[in-house]
Amino acid sequence: MADGSTTATRPAPVDLRSDTVTRPTAAMRRAMAEAEVGDDVYGEDPSITALEERVAAMFGHEAALFVPSGTMGNQIGMRLVCEPGQEVLCDADAHVVTYEMGAAAAIFGISTRTVVSDGGRLDAGQLIEQVRPKGDWHLTATAAIAVENSHNRGGGLVQPLGELRRLWDWSRGAGVAVHLDGARIWNAAAASGTDLATYGRLADTASVCLSKGLGAPVGSVLVASAERIATARLWRKRLGGGMRQAGVLAAAGLHALDHHLPRLAEDHEHAQLLAKRLGVDPATVETNMVVLDDVPAQLVAEAAKAQGVLVGRVNPRRLRMVTNLDVDRAGIDRAADVLAGLLDR
Ligand SMILES: *Cc1c(COP(=O)(O)O)cnc(C)c1O
Repeated sequence: MADGSTTATRPAPVDLRSDTVTRPTAAMRRAMAEAEVGDDVYGEDPSITALEERVAAMFGHEAALFVPSGTMGNQIGMRLVCEPGQEVLCDADAHVVTYEMGAAAAIFGISTRTVVSDGGRLDAGQLIEQVRPKGDWHLTATAAIAVENSHNRGGGLVQPLGELRRLWDWSRGAGVAVHLDGARIWNAAAASGTDLATYGRLADTASVCLSKGLGAPVGSVLVASAERIATARLWRKRLGGGMRQAGVLAAAGLHALDHHLPRLAEDHEHAQLLAKRLGVDPATVETNMVVLDDVPAQLVAEAAKAQGVLVGRVNPRRLRMVTNLDVDRAGIDRAADVLAGLLDR
C-alpha cells in the first residue's frame, strides 16, 4: 500500500474520460447519511419510493423503478416491450448493442438488428423502413425500436425532436414500441430546452441515469406504465437487482435532481470552451462531450496523462473529453492548455 508515491503537492488529475467518474460531493454524502430507509424488496424504502415517484412524474409516466445501472434499466425496459425471438431495432452505435455485453441476446433471447446512422443522429424514416411486421411466418418480428438521447458514441448529440415525434406517431399505428435510452436525457433537455416530460411521452419505456452528469454514485431509473413497472420489478429481482436499504443511494439521486440537474448548462459551456481552444467546430458540440478526430489517440492520451489530464480513447484516431461536475473552469483551462500544447493547436 505505502508505495511512497503520494505527494501532497501534485494536483488531482483533471478527469475528462467520462461523466461517470464524478465522486459524491460532501453535501450529497450528508444527504445519503441522513436518508430514511427501509427494505425496498418489500417496497418499504421511503427514499426510493420518493425518487421513483418524482422521476415518473418528471417524464410524464405512471411509474418508475430504481435499478442499479443504466444497463439493467435498458435491458429490462427492452424486455418489457419485446418477447424472446422478436427483435429490437436500433442504431449500430447504440449503447444497448455496443456496451451492454450482448445482454439482450444472452439474457432475454432478444434479437437486435442495427442500422448505420449518420453519426448517431436519428432518422425515423430509415428505421421505419427496416421494421419487420409481426405475424409473418418467415420474419423475425420487430417489436420495438430503441433510441438513444443524447447519443454517446455520437459525441453527445441531441436527437431532433421532429424525428422523435415522427417515429412515435408512426409507432402508435404500427404496434411497435419505442424504448428510450436516456442515460443523458438530462443533457439533451438542458441543451435543447425541450422538457423531460416531452421526451418521456415519446417513449413507452425509458431508462435514465443518475450516475452520469448528475453525479450520483450509483443508480438509474426505468419509467413506464404502472403495469409494465410491476413486471419490471419481477425482472429486477430475477436479475439480482433487488436491493434492500438502498435509500442511501436514492437519496444521492434526489440530491442530484435538486442540486446538479440545474447546473448541467455549466458542463455544456465548458465543452464549448474546450472545443474552441482545441480547434473543434463548436457547432459539433451539442452537450458535454468534445470529440477530437484524426489524432494519434494513444500517444496523446498518455502524454496528457503524464501532465495530469485524463481523456478517453474511443478508437486509435479518436479522443473524447466529457465535461463533468468534478471539473471546474480552472480544470478546463488546464486541460485545454495541456491538450493544445500536445496537439500544437
Ligand atoms: C452509461 C450509459 C448507459 C448505462 O450504463 P451503466 O454503466 O450500465 O449505468 C446506457 N446508455 C448510455 C448511452 C450510456 O452512456
